[in-house]
Amino acid sequence: MFNNEVKTTCSYCGVGCGIVVKKDINNKIFVEGDKDHPVNKGMLCSKGMNLHYVVNDISDRILYPEMRWSRSHPRERVSWDAALDRASSVFKSVIKKYGPDSVGFYVSGQSLTEEYYIANKLTKGFLGTNNIDTNSRLCMSSAVVGYKKTFGEDSVPTSYEDIELADCFLITGANPAWCHPILFRRIEKHKEQNPDVQIIVVDPRKTDSANFADLHLQLLPGTDIILYNAIGRRLFERGLIDDDFIKNHTEGFKDYKEQIFSVSVKKASKLCGVPEKDIRKAADIIGLSKGFISMWAMGLNQSVVGVNKNLALLNLSLITGQVGKPGSGPFSLTGQPNAMGGREVGGMANLLAVHKDLQNEEHRREVAQFWGVDRISDKPGYTATEMFEALESGKLKAVWIACTNPLVSLPNTHRIEKALKQAKFVVVQDISHRSDTVAYADLVLPAAGWLEKEGTMTNSERRISYLPKAVNAPGEARPDVEIFCDFAQRMGFRGFNYNSAEEIYDEYCEMTKGTNIDVSYLNYDRLKNEGTFQWPVPEYRHSGTSRLFADKKFYTPSQKAVFNVPDQVLNTSEMPTEDFPLILTTGRVRDQWHTMTRTGKVSRLKTHYPTPVLEINPVDAYLNKVKDGDITEIKSKNGVVRVRAKVTDAIKKGVVFLPMHWGKQLQSDLNRANNLTNTHVDPQSKEPDFKFTTVSVSKY
Ligand code: SF4
Repeated sequence: MFNNEVKTTCSYCGVGCGIVVKKDINNKIFVEGDKDHPVNKGMLCSKGMNLHYVVNDISDRILYPEMRWSRSHPRERVSWDAALDRASSVFKSVIKKYGPDSVGFYVSGQSLTEEYYIANKLTKGFLGTNNIDTNSRLCMSSAVVGYKKTFGEDSVPTSYEDIELADCFLITGANPAWCHPILFRRIEKHKEQNPDVQIIVVDPRKTDSANFADLHLQLLPGTDIILYNAIGRRLFERGLIDDDFIKNHTEGFKDYKEQIFSVSVKKASKLCGVPEKDIRKAADIIGLSKGFISMWAMGLNQSVVGVNKNLALLNLSLITGQVGKPGSGPFSLTGQPNAMGGREVGGMANLLAVHKDLQNEEHRREVAQFWGVDRISDKPGYTATEMFEALESGKLKAVWIACTNPLVSLPNTHRIEKALKQAKFVVVQDISHRSDTVAYADLVLPAAGWLEKEGTMTNSERRISYLPKAVNAPGEARPDVEIFCDFAQRMGFRGFNYNSAEEIYDEYCEMTKGTNIDVSYLNYDRLKNEGTFQWPVPEYRHSGTSRLFADKKFYTPSQKAVFNVPDQVLNTSEMPTEDFPLILTTGRVRDQWHTMTRTGKVSRLKTHYPTPVLEINPVDAYLNKVKDGDITEIKSKNGVVRVRAKVTDAIKKGVVFLPMHWGKQLQSDLNRANNLTNTHVDPQSKEPDFKFTTVSVSKY
């Protein structure tokens, strides 16, 4: 498909590194970092630099559609016509009998923007239901609500180029040294060249990021808001706040001040398990810095108080006036490569395309008009966990799962298993048989993967990049947009007769005209010829926008940023008990990605962290009679996991850690961390709490 080389973007994390794909003498592809790319400047992390193995090895790939006529029959190979005719006839009959809200789509932050857009248009515009949600719900939805409440819209104000301009980083609920490695390399390099740069890490674990920090605040899980508020109070008391910014560009400060003064720094220290002097020191570093950037990921978002954690952290940027200026601002680190693109096209159950609001009648009318349909339903769809609860209860009859593996990634996986068994019809559209969810499909559709299709993605800093097709997909695998459009046409819907992904992209760009995410002047030609762009790109020849809110005008009706007062400051969803005395937090390891359907097949990525282990503090290990290397049984009210123990003071006393990547291995699901996790969600963002499940640990 290409001669010498082709440029694209890494398909793993939201950093969005540029990659050059080349061919060796055997016509096998290999990858290098793109030296000209503004994000990574030639660097790649272990996952990115091994991406070609994933493409070259097709032994696990789903090569043709498979279908079963009933649950008592095995699946068998069928033609695309037979597969999509069956899908459309089942969806038609289910909708006719039970109404449009009886079907749903569960998609992915790894989907390209064009795929996300089409799935969203198909579901909300034509199937007549808002039942489309995504695994980004597990990742960023608390940050989305936080941004909307603070700035008036889901808008990341900051840019990677701010890293080299900042002198203070507060990294909280994230381990970028492992999970956003190239971004972290930039921070490390910046600090090496500027030793005065100060890094504060907030985490119950001594991660590699924490080990590099000047100050590590090893807090107890769920106490983040108390900590940020104590820092806010100390900033105020020391006079290290920006009065002018607060007065002229914000609202709600009085209530915020009242809340931060309701708990003393001393009391906060006790609640968080962080020394008082360290809280004061953190506040002083932040308050005396010229450029303050906060960075966060799942540690904040995946919580029953995830939105409140976001709001409390965003308040620190407001109180110091550190937003919209070079080298400053809040910066949520997106886990998936295109979680941001999905948000842009409204690929969630409670959003509409181009950041329009599902609850706004005018917005619904505008979107309906654009797509040429009568109306968009005003009923919010099922969010990720709600969708599987609805399958379990029988309210949702048919589900279409694309590019995600909920049987490993959603909380309380035994319940997900039950829900999939309960469903009347399950479609799984994926690239790999390594996805555990495939086993529960009535219809399996082979999708094209990275390099096998074209489209666009948006990384954590609003940077849109074009990904070309470079190789042919194996077997009968097809690009996701083709599959969705083919299905839509078989359903009898107009408006899905596209000739290319580019036509879909152009339609989306047209829709953005006049909005805050306007990219109506950014077409495939510009992306191919000029490289990546940060939205908005609202004019002809516009070169993109690296930083938002430079004019201190926010997207709220008053154009002021809003101090929001968290209505709950502690996570009290599950208090440790005699039966379950420890708090389990889950997370990621350096060389694996999500549920390992791709990274798990690359042998050199297995050496760093070959099997899942339970990290446990020496005191807790002693109390529970567990020694380093013992097989332990970890129990919660939802299930059991059995893995070896790693006794380490890298984890705070009272807390244990399990990595989330492993699914069913060798017919056993005892490696799967989400056997244990609870089903609590944040009431506003509906993001599940993967960071706070009470468990017991014993030697097995
Ligand atoms: Fe890919 Fe993220 Fe690694 Fe960059 S940092 S190479 S985007 S996985």
